[in-house]
Amino acid sequence: MSNPLRAVRGMNDLLPTDAPLWQYFEGILRAWLKAYGYRELRTPILEHTGLFKRAIGEVTDIVEKEMYTFVDELNGESMTLRPEGTASCVRAVIEHNLLFDGGKRLWYAGPMFRHERPQKGRYRQFHQFGIEALGYAGPDLDIEHLLMTARLWKLLGLADCIHLELNSLGGAESRARHREKLIAYFQTHEALLDEDAKRRLHSNPLRILDTKNPAMRELVEAAPRLMDELDETALAHFEAVKTGLDAAGIAYTINPRLVRGLDYYNYTVFEWVTDRLGAQGTVCAGGRYDGLVQQLGGKAAPACGFAMGVERLLALMLDVGVAAPADVADVYLINVGEAASRFAQQAAETLRDAGFNVVLHGGGGSFKSQMKKADASGARYAMIIGDDEAAAGEVTIKPLRGEGEQQRVALAAAVDLLKAFVAPASSRQL
Ligand code: ATP
Ligand code: MG
Repeated sequence: MSNPLRAVRGMNDLLPTDAPLWQYFEGILRAWLKAYGYRELRTPILEHTGLFKRAIGEVTDIVEKEMYTFVDELNGESMTLRPEGTASCVRAVIEHNLLFDGGKRLWYAGPMFRHERPQKGRYRQFHQFGIEALGYAGPDLDIEHLLMTARLWKLLGLADCIHLELNSLGGAESRARHREKLIAYFQTHEALLDEDAKRRLHSNPLRILDTKNPAMRELVEAAPRLMDELDETALAHFEAVKTGLDAAGIAYTINPRLVRGLDYYNYTVFEWVTDRLGAQGTVCAGGRYDGLVQQLGGKAAPACGFAMGVERLLALMLDVGVAAPADVADVYLINVGEAASRFAQQAAETLRDAGFNVVLHGGGGSFKSQMKKADASGARYAMIIGDDEAAAGEVTIKPLRGEGEQQRVALAAAVDLLKAFVAPASSRQL
């Protein structure tokens, strides 16, 4: 039995020391999404189980063994914590008829849940940022997504350690032809198949190519290639994507084994991969899924998108030494004495009115101990208020890391002094 007073295995607390990197990352992402005209969609974390079964596919790792599914005791319905974002996004788009006036560029972010074996880069609650462009047949949107992601790696300082792998899954007919060949091929090597593969041989042979079992690598490497079955339309689409990448100077590797772990993809699929995170090297993955909107009950609409794993990207940022800007206050406000404490509340509000970030010392203590805290907080200035200052409506400003001399002045003058040295938070970039 797990200890009920500890966090659930594979689900992490995000501590204040780690939060600045997340916020830095999220700030960059928000600006980047705006730059491409994407708008946010927030959906519930819980959905009906049937949605994921229909969207992701019954014979996939996620649906077969990774979903947090339970029966809602109040009404007996099967519910699932979302394992990914695309299914919910498409459901919401259909439910609210968002495509009534044309294509939509959307993004979402938040926790996803998969019951996997926890290890570095693989958690049971993890976070994704995802993009979906619905109602566009491409390939211009496929290219946009690849250009977008390439730009993001630059913004995050990761451009040198992530590379692009690309493939095309073609249309339904190509896949049907390929499927027959694949089944025949695997049947002749049935003794080499693992349990998962045997089970999938007839239900979803394409998924066998997605295996993580090293013992099957050779077999999978030599399997018939979907790429060889692509029809003209699919090839033209793929060529256009490659041409777009070449024009933008984005390097890529064609990986004919790249099939993605979900059923809904067709045409372009891609993964951005790093070799700095061990086996959990895929930091972003996506592609085109033209059939999904109709499959989930909507009017047919083409679509493409991608999702990135936030934990893996942040691990990579730490690994290459990208640091978030320090998360420190402008002013640490020291106050000793009753009148000082009252005046300090007022002074802190006045400073905040002027746009500064202020930590007001709480819990009392001597000047000396409070000064230690001020220093340890990383704040740029200490503002010191004793009963003496409080009576005179004055404060002492002491630079800790900022410019200037220590001086005792009226509160209003202190605000002006700070303004000369520190830009108000409201004018600073996050
Ligand atoms: P993998 O092959 O590593 O299992 P996946 O194909 O299951 O990945 P997707 O469903 O494509 O992953 O999800 C997109 C991204 O989300 C992945 O590329 C990865 O960065 C991240 N991700 C997926 N599962 C996890 C997890 N359990 N913990 C942390 N990040 C994850
Ligand atoms: Mg997986």
